[in-house]
Amino acid sequence: MDIEKLKTKLGGLLVEDDPAIVRKKSRDFYWYSPVLKRELDHVTGDIVVSPTTEAEVVQAIAAAFEADVPATPRGSGTGNYGQAMPLAGGMVLSLSGLNDITHIGPGTVVSGAGALLGKIDAATRAHSGQELRMFPSTHRTASIGGFIAGGSGGVGSIRWGGLRNIGNVIRLRVVTMEANPRVLDLTGDDIGKIAHAYGTNGIITECEMPLGPSYDWIDVIVGFENMERATTFADRLGNEDGILLKELSVMAPGVAHDYFPGHGKFVRRDQAAVLIMVAPHSVSALQAFTQRHSGEMLFRTDRLSEDDRRALPPLFELTWNHTTLVARRVDPAITYLQTLYPYPQHLEAVARMGTLIGSEMMDHLEFIRFDGRIVCSGLPLIRFTTEERLDEIVRLFEANGCLVFNPHRYTLEEGGMKRSDLGQLAFKRENDPKGLLNPGKMIAWDDPDFDFKSERKYLFSGSSPG
Ligand code: FAD
Repeated sequence: MDIEKLKTKLGGLLVEDDPAIVRKKSRDFYWYSPVLKRELDHVTGDIVVSPTTEAEVVQAIAAAFEADVPATPRGSGTGNYGQAMPLAGGMVLSLSGLNDITHIGPGTVVSGAGALLGKIDAATRAHSGQELRMFPSTHRTASIGGFIAGGSGGVGSIRWGGLRNIGNVIRLRVVTMEANPRVLDLTGDDIGKIAHAYGTNGIITECEMPLGPSYDWIDVIVGFENMERATTFADRLGNEDGILLKELSVMAPGVAHDYFPGHGKFVRRDQAAVLIMVAPHSVSALQAFTQRHSGEMLFRTDRLSEDDRRALPPLFELTWNHTTLVARRVDPAITYLQTLYPYPQHLEAVARMGTLIGSEMMDHLEFIRFDGRIVCSGLPLIRFTTEERLDEIVRLFEANGCLVFNPHRYTLEEGGMKRSDLGQLAFKRENDPKGLLNPGKMIAWDDPDFDFKSERKYLFSGSSPG
């Protein structure tokens, strides 16, 4: 790795090598996990390069290739698996400057990979009353490129599934890490080669995403006396074809009351809370459906004054991994898991895990479409004690048929389906022959014989983990 040689090839680009700035731009929300905090706290790049055009991305990548400098792409750094952290040092390639929105048409928007999701949505709404089908709860701060490369789904997944579902990303432009970088246009099945690959096999410079009609979604909270009634209601509501929802989540008793700064006052401590974003034309149907299930409508933004509505954050900023964020602000000892309950026994599995783990866990469910069916994923809040206990809880979930996308690991495979994606590996071999892109995140590249059944944790040898 020859940083000085790299610098000689970066003429005309924005380059930062002040250690404090580089360290800041080498971090994401890895600290949600006490394990990653211990292992990655020391990680920093050597230099940050911030291209503003695709041509500048090509220049930076060609220079890194020639100087054998690892390159870790970065959007807004809101990932929370350490995805954007440069384990082997080198160049942090900040794509936030590629943020133009270049085309909006019926059902489609094209933007630079660094464009913020909230900015894209605002532009499409103003242009033609359209909105992104789905977004992470980090809507205001995260980039579209980072969402596709490091995210999975979020607000809108109750209707559209996840980014992994074909059709939820239309087209990507990608720069390869070679002596003469190529620029590829990917569509259809090729998108899966680079989506959710943590930037290990190409740099996304442009994204084309599908849009739906935009609504002034109404935020609603419905209360129930226990978790079982709340999850049954949410599961049935998610299956109601005539009610248009954008978000559907369930918080165990205590979570909303104790951790939600503005909305907590609307929910009693002993109530389980169902958080809903509903289209205005569906709100009367939701009200009738809620009465049918003896739910208590505790909060709805269409009944608030404009000032009261403006004084509160959007409800979606209390869902997905924002739930963990607001809970940690009250109790920093809280961490979390990311799970998928097994359809069609998902509700039984939720009840069983609640009994098995008890007060160490405060449940938080996100209802989503998953391969055409309504199921619940979980981001349970976990009271952290020891890493060994955390691993035990992960094994308990897995022993009970729940998939765990382990957020206490920084590799694609351990944070995913515990197996290598051979399509993404092949794409890396083609596009990043020296293995310079985001080293240490794809086990299949570093250690093809790694045995995922061994339960051994993978630690990248290219950096000195804590
Ligand atoms: P970064 O963190 O900068 O990068 C993410 C990954 O993508 C890294 O591996 C990085 O190397 C790679 N990458 C970034 N840009 C590019 C590019 N142009 N080309 C190639 N690779 C690239 N995630 C969800 O899916 N759903 C949620 O609802 C959600 N809620 C969250 C709530 C909170 C409070 C927090 C802290 C995180 C949440 N996340 C969620 C995780 C994260 O916010 C999202 O995945 C977000 O979209 C990541 O975007 P980013 O720009 O911050 O990416």
